[in-house]
Amino acid sequence: MSAPPALLSVEALAVGYGPVPVLHGVDLRVTTGTIAAVLGANGAGKTTLLRALSGVLRPTAGTVRFAGEDLRGVRVEHLVRRGLAHVPEGRGVIGELTVEENLRLGALWRADRADAARALDEVYHLFAPLARRRRHLGHQLSGGERQMLALGRALVARPRLLLLDEPSLGLAPRVVAQTMALLRRLRDDTGLTVLLVEQNVRSALAVADQGIVMALGRVVLAAPAARLRDDADLRHAYLGF
Ligand code: ATP
Repeated sequence: MSAPPALLSVEALAVGYGPVPVLHGVDLRVTTGTIAAVLGANGAGKTTLLRALSGVLRPTAGTVRFAGEDLRGVRVEHLVRRGLAHVPEGRGVIGELTVEENLRLGALWRADRADAARALDEVYHLFAPLARRRRHLGHQLSGGERQMLALGRALVARPRLLLLDEPSLGLAPRVVAQTMALLRRLRDDTGLTVLLVEQNVRSALAVADQGIVMALGRVVLAAPAARLRDDADLRHAYLGF
């Protein structure tokens, strides 16, 4: 049987900050319509990986293929148009803009204005607190609402691949659970593919199909999430619990 198609495949990716190398030959594959959780200690290179995939950082070596297309040298705007959305750590909500204005930024590159309006309605349907607070400014929102807004803004672009950096950071356990449930629903109902960086390993593995463990700028394990959930020895060796 042939392997299921990968929406994202990364080979021998090397990235650094100036002369300082951080990723040393990262390989990974994310199958269409699945959630992959990128796990690992602080400083392992998880955020750097997402920055390289979304075009914020330029790789020094290696290849990134997204939906079969080589992304080397491609501009960020093109990546967004091709269906790649990045929700960065800290979420990037603009405090001086209203909820609605923040959401509309997600549709900036969309040519199909009618569908962009539909996507906006869907986000309000998905996140009722945002609908109630659409005229409020970003900085007036709670942490959980800001997380919703960042996710909502990414979804307005109708991404095929969502890169999510630490969505649970600073959120109450109930809100984390809601966020994970939403990701599962989007995967199951719309075929969304997600690459999820998380410190909250248990929550991430509960929703993920694949676990990718990084250490010191390398992928040291890529395995079905169920194996990492069920195999205590493996979990202990790679995740320390
Ligand atoms: P964390 O969970 O703490 O965010 P991480 O796995 O996401 O960890 P990165 O943030 O990707 O790790 O950091 C990987 C390495 O790159 C670290 O050694 C870090 O000090 C370094 N680094 C991160 N950002 C920069 C930067 N802007 N300039 C220089 N070095 C950086």
